Amino acid sequence: MTERVNALDVIDLTAGYGRIEVLHGVSFSVPSGSVVALLGPNGAGKTTTLNCIAGVLDPTGGHVHIGGHHLNGAAPDRLARAGLCTIPEGRGIFPNLTVVENISLFAFAAKATPREIEERSFTQFPRLAERRGQLAGKLSGGEQQMLAMARALSTDPALLLLDELSMGLAPKIVEDLYEIVGEIGRQGVSVLVVEQFARRALAVAQLGIVMVQGRVTAVGEPADIEGELSAAYLGGAA
Ligand code: ATP
Repeated sequence: MTERVNALDVIDLTAGYGRIEVLHGVSFSVPSGSVVALLGPNGAGKTTTLNCIAGVLDPTGGHVHIGGHHLNGAAPDRLARAGLCTIPEGRGIFPNLTVVENISLFAFAAKATPREIEERSFTQFPRLAERRGQLAGKLSGGEQQMLAMARALSTDPALLLLDELSMGLAPKIVEDLYEIVGEIGRQGVSVLVVEQFARRALAVAQLGIVMVQGRVTAVGEPADIEGELSAAYLGGAA
């Protein structure tokens, strides 16, 4: 029997800022082809974990394996070649280019033609198709998030990292975005989504990870971590 390699393994990760350690040995995995939600209250260390995986922050200890390859501290291009794709803060879109220009800009990094990428993006995100000629800077926040996701997906990533999809967006838009995340997972892309508001993320995730104060306190199927999750948020709010 051949063992399936995980899309991501985080092993005993420690990291911090200056002398302050904020991750105290974080371990979890994202199985290939699954959506995993990394949850926890403010300050739990979710973004710090994501930044270590994305190569933005150097861990002080532990390991990050992407698709079975050891990639701690690797340069962004090496991470991209390993199939990692992340949406940067500010979503990384060009406000003065149109929707379609933003999408085709990334075609060079993809295996498909610009035409195929546009078609795929507009099928997946019909709202973007309606606004294809509009400047990206004039899109709503939710539409900009869709554009960022469309661009990320155009590079055929093996692992997509999403940080706080719901930030500043109306509930209905968040619901639409999470439906798309579920769909992306069904297409075989592994997704790690960081979210402070757990319910939406858990609705489309196969696995949830709860973090509190720099440690993983629970890993399990959404229904199995509910108790731990409530405790985490109550503790966090205290
Ligand atoms: P949130 O949901 O509020 O974004 P989080 O779980 O993503 O929280 P992190 O942003 O990873 O948490 O923060 C973890 C801890 O590290 C917090 O105590 C935070 O104050 C601290 N921290 C985060 N970024 C920095 C930084 N650039 N410099 C110093 N401390 C930081």
